[in-house]
Amino acid sequence: MPMATTKRDYYEVLGLKREATPEEIKKAYRQLALKNHPDKNPGDAEAEKRFKEAAEAYEVLSDQAKRQRYDRYGHAGMEGAGVHDFRNAEDIMSAFSDIFGGGLFGDLFGQQRKRGPRPGQDLLYKLEIELVEAARGTTKAIDINRQEACGDCKGSGARKGTVATTCNYCGGQGQVVQSRGFFQVASTCPSCGGEGVRVTDPCPSCRGSGRVPSVAHLKVDVPPGVESGMWLQLRGQGEPGDPGAPRGNLRIQIMVRKHPFFERNRNDLLCQVPISFPQAALGADIEVPTLDGPDRLHVPKGTQSGEVLKLKTRGMPDISGRGRGDLLIEVIVETPRHLSVRQEELLRELAEIEHEDVSPKRKSFFEKLRDYFTEDAEPGESEES
Ligand SMILES: [Zn+2]
Ligand SMILES: [Zn+2]
Repeated sequence: MPMATTKRDYYEVLGLKREATPEEIKKAYRQLALKNHPDKNPGDAEAEKRFKEAAEAYEVLSDQAKRQRYDRYGHAGMEGAGVHDFRNAEDIMSAFSDIFGGGLFGDLFGQQRKRGPRPGQDLLYKLEIELVEAARGTTKAIDINRQEACGDCKGSGARKGTVATTCNYCGGQGQVVQSRGFFQVASTCPSCGGEGVRVTDPCPSCRGSGRVPSVAHLKVDVPPGVESGMWLQLRGQGEPGDPGAPRGNLRIQIMVRKHPFFERNRNDLLCQVPISFPQAALGADIEVPTLDGPDRLHVPKGTQSGEVLKLKTRGMPDISGRGRGDLLIEVIVETPRHLSVRQEELLRELAEIEHEDVSPKRKSFFEKLRDYFTEDAEPGESEES
């Protein structure tokens, strides 16, 4: 019997030992069937083969009489023993519907098989706010274009006093089944769009769609600390679902407008403030912007351009309520572009003094520079050693 020798052992197919209990057989088959189901592996011939193989193995091993016969005689013993020749996935499913609990495959494998009213779609909205609003939290009034269930037909689409009739293209199933190779594939009914019903006498208010366009006025609470790109969700504020099904959600993406002074880095705010050379050299109290208005900041004597001074906890609040970031102020020492005669006089005087008395930092800088060029000029030495 050449057929018998090419077949895999049924226990091997299900990955079981020969003494496996009926419970173990059931469990093993269920897992394999779910894994290799053609709806989950479209176009995968190998999965299809394993799916069919597992069904056959299960059919024999789950039946006590057939199992005994198989244990004794192997595949040869199954000739003419009434082993099912499964044609397609539906066939297998209906043969073992008890272990798949009826609608289990439908729930697992796609919406096509799912019947009943469909929930509404989500709506997306971009909400722009100012940085100060992001810091303090705000409530925004927004207008949303969305649909409402038609009041005249209560969303059914059928003229008042009439009802929608069963779609005769799909017989109310909402889907049509086509043969695709070995298996049959279900797809949404093109006539009723999956609803299973057709409106023969459409409601004049909504032209049978069951929906009417409208504008919803909503309030959005924006929590303090939000960042650009974050999403807020208003549950049940999206498009309406089929009668009896929930509305979709409204998803709001936050965009924080660029601020003229502040740049956000996590919960810290960064800000550049120009100071004059005398302020940097001598130290000064300067005015700086903060989220709560102008404030004073002490610039210590000898501050360098680019140094960052910190105003603690004056940044953005943390979105989860864990404290506040800092305000980081980068001071930029500005070189004057226009000088009065007196200013120029004083600066020249300063330059003369500096010439005689080079500041320590500059002195060390020039020393380093000289060392750098000297090292650079002696590469020959290392080559010879
Ligand atoms: Zn209507
Ligand atoms: Zn239909």
